[in-house]
Parts: sequence; structure tokens; C-alpha cells
Amino acid sequence: MKTYHGSCHCQAIRFTADIDLADGSMRCNCSFCRKIRCWATVVKPENFRLLAGEAELSEYQFGAKNERHFFCKHCGVRPFGIAHSPRRGRFYGVSVSCLDDATIAELMAAPVTYVDGLNDNWDTPPAETAYL
Ligand SMILES: [Zn+2]
Repeated sequence: MKTYHGSCHCQAIRFTADIDLADGSMRCNCSFCRKIRCWATVVKPENFRLLAGEAELSEYQFGAKNERHFFCKHCGVRPFGIAHSPRRGRFYGVSVSCLDDATIAELMAAPVTYVDGLNDNWDTPPAETAYL
């Protein structure tokens, strides 16, 4: 587990999160993740700390509203979301792409699990993943 510093593009939103990138990351084919090119990792609430920018966050929900996606009001980047699932409980979905001090080697080594969020089928990867 390593403590990473993360931010949106304009730095209004800043956070730290304790993450083991070797534990994996996720890419999803749902209508939302596809549009924002989401690459996320699951972080337990006790391992996430918002350092700055709470008032600069805008929130978006859609569909079953299982996840609250947070965006910077200024630059539009989504640093994290907060979700709840029966399997994981409450968790943060932190955008791996917002981790400022993750090395390229760490990012390349992070395993990626592809999930079929489009069909709410979380146990079987989508048939096609190269475009995600
Ligand atoms: Zn920003």
C-alpha cells in the first residue's frame, strides 16, 4: 500500500489515497465510463482523504444511482466517485489517471479488470475490451 497524491487538472480538488495498484484497477463499458474513459481503482473510505476542494465539486448520478460521481466545477475532471455495492459496501472509485505521483511503471504494472457495467453484469468481462 502506498499513499498517492491525486488532483483534478486545475488542482482545485486535491486528495490522498492509500492504494496498492498491484491489487488491480477497473475499466467499465457502461454509458458513463465510456464517455469519460474512466480508469478506476477501489479505495476503502478510511483510505481516502479529501485535502482541498470540497466546495468546488459538482456531483452527477444516473441510472440506478448507485454511485455519486464528483467533478471539478472548473476543469471538469472526475477525480473520484463514491459508490455502494452489496459486495464491497461503501467505497471510493478513484480515477487512476488523477494520481499525480503514480509512476509510469506502477501504472503499466497495475492489473486491469474489464467489467460489463453496461449490462449490470459484474462477474463476466465484456466480449470486446480493446476500445475501453
Ligand atoms: Zn479542477
